[in-house]
Amino acid sequence: MTRLIFLGPPGAGKGTQAKILADNLAIPHISTGDILRSAMAAQTTLGQKAQSYYDKGDLVPDDLLHDLIGERLSQSDAQKGWILDGFPRKLSQASFLEELLQELSQQCDCALNLEVPDEVLIIRLLGRGRQDDNKDTIRRRLEVYRQETEPLIVFYGERSLLKTVNGDQSPEEVTESVKQAVDSCKPSCS
Ligand code: ADP
Repeated sequence: MTRLIFLGPPGAGKGTQAKILADNLAIPHISTGDILRSAMAAQTTLGQKAQSYYDKGDLVPDDLLHDLIGERLSQSDAQKGWILDGFPRKLSQASFLEELLQELSQQCDCALNLEVPDEVLIIRLLGRGRQDDNKDTIRRRLEVYRQETEPLIVFYGERSLLKTVNGDQSPEEVTESVKQAVDSCKPSCS
């Protein structure tokens, strides 16, 4: 049973690594970015509400994400473990998750923080060319990361759940470092 949170700035490689690990462990990879992008493409109510925040590189309001995560972690495939990628992204979301997991009698094993220097992130994001990967939005997303998401490193550090991984290596080397970090996490008993 593995339950993991991926932390790290935009462009750190969370999505790539979370997907590989989820496939290896046969557990769901829950990416709020992916969920929001499909909701926006399908123009669902969630997608329409999220669009303007997403386009600016701002965080989408908590209530939209909280409902979604609450439902997703209650689904049957999530009972055998999960990897969260892109959630939580701010302290209010981390507190929400902590309470939710208590209600669901689940425990997070580990928060993996993928570290990558800013100059490398910017090159990666500009090269990726997703719709929200233009210069202004990238600047805003990095700013939001520093202000809102980086404090989660302390939050999970205080709970002894934090593992830091060097994300400035080849994808294969990062995968190897992620595996080692996960192996060193204490598995939960449940
Ligand atoms: P990246 O990994 O490059 O940061 P994501 O695909 O995870 O990109 O997220 C892209 C955008 O989706 C964010 O800039 C934000 O607008 C929205 N988003 C994703 N997750 C969250 C979240 N937990 N809370 C609020 N907004 C979110």
